[in-house]
Amino acid sequence: MNALPHKDTIKTITTHYIDGAFVESHGKDIIDIIRPTDGRVTARVALGDEEDTRRAIAAAKRAFASYGRTTKEERSKVLRRLHEAAAARIDDLTAAMIEEYGGVAQFARLIVESGVNAFLAAEKALQELPLARSWDKTTVTLEPVGVAGLITAWNANALFICLKLASAVAAGCTVVIKPSELSSLQTRVLLEALHEAQLPQGLLNVVTGLGNVVGAELVRNPAVAKISFTGSVAVGEQIMRDGAATMKRVTLELGGKSPTIVLDDAALDQAIPTALTIAFLNSGQACAAGTRLLVPKTRLDAAKRALREAMRSITVGDPADPKTAIGPMVSQKQYERIQSYIRKGIEEGAEVLAGGEGRPEGLEAGYYVKPTVFINVKNDMTIAQEEIFGPVLSVIAYDTEEDAIRIANDSRYGLHACVIGKDLQRAHLVASQIRAGRVLINGMTDDAQAPWGGFKYSGVGREYGRYGIEAFLETRAIIEA
Ligand code: NAD
Repeated sequence: MNALPHKDTIKTITTHYIDGAFVESHGKDIIDIIRPTDGRVTARVALGDEEDTRRAIAAAKRAFASYGRTTKEERSKVLRRLHEAAAARIDDLTAAMIEEYGGVAQFARLIVESGVNAFLAAEKALQELPLARSWDKTTVTLEPVGVAGLITAWNANALFICLKLASAVAAGCTVVIKPSELSSLQTRVLLEALHEAQLPQGLLNVVTGLGNVVGAELVRNPAVAKISFTGSVAVGEQIMRDGAATMKRVTLELGGKSPTIVLDDAALDQAIPTALTIAFLNSGQACAAGTRLLVPKTRLDAAKRALREAMRSITVGDPADPKTAIGPMVSQKQYERIQSYIRKGIEEGAEVLAGGEGRPEGLEAGYYVKPTVFINVKNDMTIAQEEIFGPVLSVIAYDTEEDAIRIANDSRYGLHACVIGKDLQRAHLVASQIRAGRVLINGMTDDAQAPWGGFKYSGVGREYGRYGIEAFLETRAIIEA
């Protein structure tokens, strides 16, 4: 590792965004932001405390009194302004994502663009969502739930913040956002951009801080009606438990162990590179990563050859290089976690087809790992059941299509899946039997109006499009005697 620079020469962010302005943190604790490509400290950030959080909640509550009564047209205007403001900083947002956590350029830009487009997608969904229905003497309206606490993971910061903010604003909610403390620099760039949207005061508030301080206050505070959370299962469980005390509405976007099923009529020279792209999304640090690859036993040898071949073109290195497929892991902790899973896979009897333990040659300074493909994996092995959150793929052989569906569903998760095959009707039939919130056919794709979220331990509720807006609404009936 390189020597760390003297901390006093480094920029420190000491403000939160409360009531339409950047205000000094009441919390005085400071954390280092460490660059994953070389382990150097690049910035320091003041951590907000309960007092900062309560101030932000109070501002959101004041703003809700008027924003909660806005019309669709007024909310649409706000969404368009947010889009314009964020779109003006796409390059800076992408650069911050590459710098702060080593997101690879080819993926970082797509993620930022999806975040920016979330505002327009929410506007479209809002226009198409009837907010009132009436019959006889009854009128039913969909009302904003109130102040929303938005708590995000680090791995696609701009996307999560924009997505949750867009849905909440479309619904008429005001928000307090607690971004991951590992995303402070990216959040700052985003906030500077969104500040330009000249939002109604108090509509958007952001407090940077630790989950068990700022996040916990949002979950506990009775003035917050709704929590929309993206992160790990363990924290999701805690939010559901602690939120019950104030009857919080919760949306939880949690982990995954997603299957990619290669059907026996698939062309392997296309199917395998596609499967690797999905497995190694965001350097493997993606909730949707397809980290279990199910191939027919009859085609296992050919699949192994195709995997060896395709792995040769997966480059690991500088995330800023547009050719790089896999950058460093976000932190030393994440690096060690992945190493321990690779060791576990070997101990449990899986065979390393590519990659393995340790750092790739020439990349000793940062948190780089070797993209790893395991074969001879049984679905009950730890590496096939637990979310690793790194570029580690488990290849599992299956006998029949029914067997493939059973293995795919034999997981506590159900976030995402992909089915690859020539016969589309058959691929759809298989897809319809997968217990996951999103099932792709024949490759990585997205639809900003289609729901996103998980079955089972992958979460509760949905985001994106009208589904995302509905998560911030309550239903009221007025009935005349
Ligand atoms: P994490 O659960 O550690 O942290 C997520 C957020 O919760 C952070 O902002 C953290 O500070 C906060 N937090 C921690 N403790 C808290 C508490 N007690 N109360 C309230 N908030 C608290 O997750 P992470 O490491 O940032 O992200 C990785 C995880 O997120 C993976 O499991 C991944 O699958 C999941 N994820 C899911 C999706 C999805 O859409 N389903 C997307 C991305 C990531």
